[in-house]
Amino acid sequence: VDKEDYPVQTVEETDVLLPRRPRDAHKGDFGKCAIVGGSVGYTGAPTLSARAAVRSGAGLVWVGVPAPVWPVAAAKLDEAMPFPLPAGKEGQLSLEAGELIRHKLSGYEVCLIGPGLGRGNGVASVVRHLLGEIHIPVILDADGINALEGHMDVLDGRQGLHTVLTPHDGEFARLGGDLSGGDRLGEARRFAREHGCCLVLKGHRTITAFPDGRAYINTTGNPGMAKGGSGDVLAGIILALLGQGLPARQAVPYAVWLHGAAGDRCAAEVGEYGMTPTDLVATLPAVLEAHV
Ligand code: AMP
Ligand code: MG
Repeated sequence: VDKEDYPVQTVEETDVLLPRRPRDAHKGDFGKCAIVGGSVGYTGAPTLSARAAVRSGAGLVWVGVPAPVWPVAAAKLDEAMPFPLPAGKEGQLSLEAGELIRHKLSGYEVCLIGPGLGRGNGVASVVRHLLGEIHIPVILDADGINALEGHMDVLDGRQGLHTVLTPHDGEFARLGGDLSGGDRLGEARRFAREHGCCLVLKGHRTITAFPDGRAYINTTGNPGMAKGGSGDVLAGIILALLGQGLPARQAVPYAVWLHGAAGDRCAAEVGEYGMTPTDLVATLPAVLEAHV
């Protein structure tokens, strides 16, 4: 069959079901999750992702950040494990960070790369190096996505491993996504198939597309989420659900739905103007609990 024949599914409230945590479970059952992010100027992004992952049930969350911002991450994160990484003069990851991260990640099951990393050349090289070296599912967001600009071939080496990209329209365009024709769904599907990745094209009615042609349209969320930091929260939720062993075909569209549902709760309780990504994180437990 032509893979385009998979019907597009909207993700509705009743579709989202999370497994119960077994009574005899321990933290190792819920994923060893890693985050590589942060830079001087962007200290909030990796901590928002880490808090979202912790609030979404992750067993362990390791957070590698450039050394100059490590004290900030360490002061903010009690439940995650912030670790200082070699940094260059701009306060971004330096090239030496690559090998150290690879070493630290042995035993980890899933990794989020990108929130707040910054856009230096060194950073982009480290990201591309890691993509070739770590053989676990990876979520690329923000500057993790930007690092692929002009280097999409890096994804070829990861076929068969899950690679999830979570661009907004601007990041999508940087990777060659063409939304000028107005066909977000078709373009997301084309991109996912062509590059063998799971694509989360964010915005109003976020689309999740898989390389096999499956595609999902989200039904939650609101413009109160159109604020810096919202995407970092989403990336952390995806990380946690993948870490807990949900198959990507569920983990990714569920995470998108739950993130939007948290947003809708915040809009009702706080209002679209004043709600913040931190509010999203605080609301996650109640939203998740309603779907176990
Ligand atoms: P980012 O641009 O990376 O911060 O991501 C923004 C997040 O907020 C994404 O998950 C978007 O889907 C969500 N978002 C932003 N604007 C809207 C909107 N108007 N309706 C629904 N979700 C939105
Ligand atoms: Mg973002």
